[in-house]
Order: sequence, then C-alpha cells, then structure tokens
Amino acid sequence: MQSPFPELQLFITGPIYVRPEVRQAGLWPEFGHRDAENRKRFEPIMKNLKILAGAPDDYEVIIFNGSGTNAMEASIRSLVADGEKVLNVSVGAFGDLYHKIATVNGKDAVQLKFDPGSCIDTARLQQALDEHRPAVVSLTHNETSTGVTNDIKAACEVIRRSGALALVDGISIFGGSPSHIEDTRCAMYITSTQKSLGLPAGFGIAFVSPEALAKAEKVSNRGFVSDILAQLPRARKFQTLTTPNCTLANQMYLQMEYIVNEEGVESRFKRHLQMRDAVHEFVSGLEGFELFAPEGYRSPTVTCVRVPESMTAARLKEIKETLREKGYLFDPGYGKLNDALEQAGKRAVFRIGHMGDMNMDMLEEYLQTLKGILQA
Ligand SMILES: *Cc1c(COP(=O)(O)O)cnc(C)c1O
Repeated sequence: MQSPFPELQLFITGPIYVRPEVRQAGLWPEFGHRDAENRKRFEPIMKNLKILAGAPDDYEVIIFNGSGTNAMEASIRSLVADGEKVLNVSVGAFGDLYHKIATVNGKDAVQLKFDPGSCIDTARLQQALDEHRPAVVSLTHNETSTGVTNDIKAACEVIRRSGALALVDGISIFGGSPSHIEDTRCAMYITSTQKSLGLPAGFGIAFVSPEALAKAEKVSNRGFVSDILAQLPRARKFQTLTTPNCTLANQMYLQMEYIVNEEGVESRFKRHLQMRDAVHEFVSGLEGFELFAPEGYRSPTVTCVRVPESMTAARLKEIKETLREKGYLFDPGYGKLNDALEQAGKRAVFRIGHMGDMNMDMLEEYLQTLKGILQA
C-alpha cells in the first residue's frame, strides 16, 4: 500500500524531520534483543552516545523504552528518597513537567518557578536551596516551550555546592549542542531520540553518574522499569531492560555513526548555531516581531517568536493550516503558554524548530514561505 498520509516537512519541536537514509534504515532486519545481533547495534549506539555527550568514562548510558519522560520519571523514582525534598526548577512547561512527575510519584516536591521567557537566575536558585535544603534538584537545559537555554554549568555549580544531586532535562538540545556533563557532573542527564538526534521517538536516554548509582541503593520503591539499578546490568551488556523497538535501534545505529563519523560532532553543533542565527536574522527583518528568549540564552534548536499585538493565537492556528497546504507543519506556539499570555493581556508566540538534520536550504525555504504569510 502507498502511504495514505501527506509528506509534511516538520518545523515543530519534535518529532522532527527524519532524513531519507534514516527512514531507509527502518527497513533493516528485525533482531533478537537477547541475541548477539543486539550488541552489533547497541554497543556502537551507546559508545557513540557517550562521544556525542562528551561524557566522562565513569558515566553509564541507559536506554529506556518509551521516551524522554520515562527517563525523567526514572531519575525521580531512583534518586529521591523518603523524607527528602526535591526542588524542581522551572522556566516553562517542561520544567513544570519534572515537578508534576515528582508530585504524582508521591515525592516531597517544591518548585522554583521563573516567568516564561526568562532563564534560571542563580541568586534565586541559591535562595531556594538555602530555604528548602533539597537532596535532589531538577532543571531544564533547553526549555522547548519558550526557546530558552539555561546556563546549566552555573546552575549545577550552585546545586553541587549545596550538596544536592542535579537532574538535567536535556531532551530538546542533546545532539545539537554540548551537554556539558563533564563540567556539571550532574547525577543524570536525560534526552530522547525525536529531537536534535534526528530520529523517530521511542527511546529515553540517560547518562548516569556513579554518585547517582550509589544514591539509588538508598532509595526504596524505585519501581521496575523506572529503577536505574534494574536497568544497569542490561545497559552494561548493551541491552535494554525490556524489548526495544528494533526498527528504531537500526535507525539509531545508522544515525549515531553518521553524527559521530560523517557529519562530526563539532560540525553538527556549528550547523545548529548557524540555523539559530538565520532564524534570528529572519525575525529581525519582520516588523513588530521579537525574540521571546533573553539575549545570551537563546536556544540553538528552537526559537520562540513574540508576534505583534494584532496577531492572535487563533490567527497563528490559521497560519498553521495555510502552511499545511504548502507542505509544512508550523508550530503555533505552546498551547498553554499562549492561553496564559493572552489571558494576561500579553502578546502570543509561535515557535520554529531548527534541530536534528534540518539543513540551511530547507530552513531558508521555509522562512521565505513563512515571511510571505506573516506579512500578508
Ligand atoms: C519533548 C520534551 C520532553 C518530553 O519528552 P518525550 O520524549 O516526549 O517524553 C521533556 N522535556 C523537554 C525539554 C522536551 O523538549
């Protein structure tokens, strides 16, 4: 059967454009996940992930079935003990997600929240650490709802000095920018396949420090698939704890080889900065439109744009349909954020995802089309 679905070029913030070679690798053979064939895929995948992360040798890589959220939940369940506090630092919807995961898992959770569009202020973080004395702190490397990249080196330094473990959600930036794990020495750094890695969704990925493994020994009720200590023996054999998506594993084998050995890690990071700069230039050429994130904290993988007063969130949804007819999937802003902004009498935002294997030509063509529609 031919695909009954349209070929849309995705300019949303995940899932993302998947290049033809990766789609082709989806046709490679299914394999047994406890057979020798498994290791042929996952050993290079995990080694390349560590190279891409620049992760120190003593970090373990765990691949979770599901998506990034599964790895986030595992970090909370494995590392926050009874009688301890977890402080969840949020600059937007995905920071709120960490807080929600901690809360619904019955953890003693407190939140430090910054206004959407701002980044983590380390002075206020220090105050919250002094006030709450948390054992664990979660934070977002790249807030996908607002296009803000936090200075996680500075934040983790403050957290580390307080004696707490840091959990970093790097989901929408990993693969497009350095993880800084060697500097932050965070307890867990978490990502997913369907953002800057340029793959379909299906795995959560975690880089886990020795400190985190030691801590987990002292935490009860870690669950099963959410237990990093249950995951670890399998991960050390380059396996997943439960049956993986073999199609995705084949694609990921190809993609990780490509990123590390063909495109090259540094070139990939550079390309993301070029795409970011091209989008910034595009926005500066649009009358009445502004970048939402503060200077110095603007994401290399997603740009959030504040629209003029005359343009509503409802209008952005119409624009989405206009672009669909032209073969593009436009992102009319994070829904709850636009609701909140409009309720507060503030201007709405939209987003442009520029991550993964998107190239400058694709991006420029999209921006040209978008410009015509926004200025119509
Ligand atoms: C997409 C995203 C998530 C959720 O990840 P899933 O892989 O969909 O579970 C969490 N945090 C951030 C910053 C994200 O961009």
